Amino acid sequence: MSHILLVEDDLSLIEGLEFSLMKNGFRVDVARTVKDAIAALKTSSYDLLLIDLGLPDGSGFDICRKVRQTSNVPIIFLTASDEEVNIVMGLDIGGDDYITKPFKLNELISRIKALLRRARLSESTPTELSSNGITVKLLESRVLKNNREVELTAAEYRLLCLFMRHPNTVLTRQVILDRLWDSGGSFVDNNTLSVYVRRLREKIEDDPDNPVFLLTVRGLGYRWNVRE
Ligand code: CA
Repeated sequence: MSHILLVEDDLSLIEGLEFSLMKNGFRVDVARTVKDAIAALKTSSYDLLLIDLGLPDGSGFDICRKVRQTSNVPIIFLTASDEEVNIVMGLDIGGDDYITKPFKLNELISRIKALLRRARLSESTPTELSSNGITVKLLESRVLKNNREVELTAAEYRLLCLFMRHPNTVLTRQVILDRLWDSGGSFVDNNTLSVYVRRLREKIEDDPDNPVFLLTVRGLGYRWNVRE
């Protein structure tokens, strides 16, 4: 079930949107301010963001900029018609699409589905991930380091794939836990994650005590460091 964050301050709109999204099988969280949206993004992972531009404590663009520092999650802006001139800027800073109020709910739903489809395709198309001398053969679930086979557990493998799909991106511990939980179905807690990371480093780093690929970002999480 795709998880959507709706950022909108207009109560009359929220109600209809929330109902319609849920009816279409989406899980929906609602934030009504920039501040609430940022807080929600820190604690949950979303498949798509629907962001109103005019919010009580700022602009939807502020949220988009912030999100794009760490994530490629699809973003659709909800704009009033007099804001339409701004939309080029919105797309420049990383928005994927926009829809002008008042809009037909059907139209919004089909845009959402299109973006989710595209996001899934771009994640699932590659058959191989490769960086830092490490190659993951996705079809065979095999990992090679400098052409030598590396034996990973299922959890270590998922963790490695997650990092390699998001090079040079800070993945917070919460995002990692959400993703591992989603794909594995079994519960992973913070300490377990630290253990996974240590074991993964022992298998893929040249010097596991001084990692250069899988870096710790203090207070936040980890980053797969790829030097071009
Ligand atoms: Ca508004």
